[in-house]
Amino acid sequence: MSETPHTHTDEEHAHTVEEGETVIVCYRHPDTETSLRCNRCGKPICTKCAELTPVGYRCPDCVREQQDKFYTGGNLDYVIAVVVALPLSFIAGAVFTFIIAGLGFFSWIISFFAAPFTGGLIAEAVRRAVGRRRSRYLSTVVAACLVLGVAPFILFMLINGNLYGLIPPGILLFFGVGTIVARLR
Ligand SMILES: [Zn+2]
Ligand SMILES: [Zn+2]
Repeated sequence: MSETPHTHTDEEHAHTVEEGETVIVCYRHPDTETSLRCNRCGKPICTKCAELTPVGYRCPDCVREQQDKFYTGGNLDYVIAVVVALPLSFIAGAVFTFIIAGLGFFSWIISFFAAPFTGGLIAEAVRRAVGRRRSRYLSTVVAACLVLGVAPFILFMLINGNLYGLIPPGILLFFGVGTIVARLR
């Protein structure tokens, strides 16, 4: 993560060949001649180093800097996410398994509406708990919590041979994970 600040000048990246002709070289590969420059900081970059972004070619330093600006959450956010999402997922698993599954035929229809709603609720609770900061793996962590929270109930229904009762928590898992991933991206 510790990158050299953008204090390089062209002179540092250029060396003089015969007859005073100046050759621009990649700031990371002093042996590679290039005419390409990062369109943010202006450092010369070779084709191997250049990363094409929606706004043009950028050097790896600038790309990482932009990502760090986007992902403002620290490692503590993952802990907070687990503390918030795991109990909520467990409660949701219990509600879908023991309350919604007991509603007979309508349990399926109710599950189809309640599952994305529940996933959205968990995602929103986590987002507020981490102060709306973004983290690279936040959606993965929260989705994993939902899987862990609901898995005991699915296992319980499997052991009891209640395949019909598997469907509501199954729907919760499928649509809940989808909603979480979409909301916390
Ligand atoms: Zn740059
Ligand atoms: Zn290079």
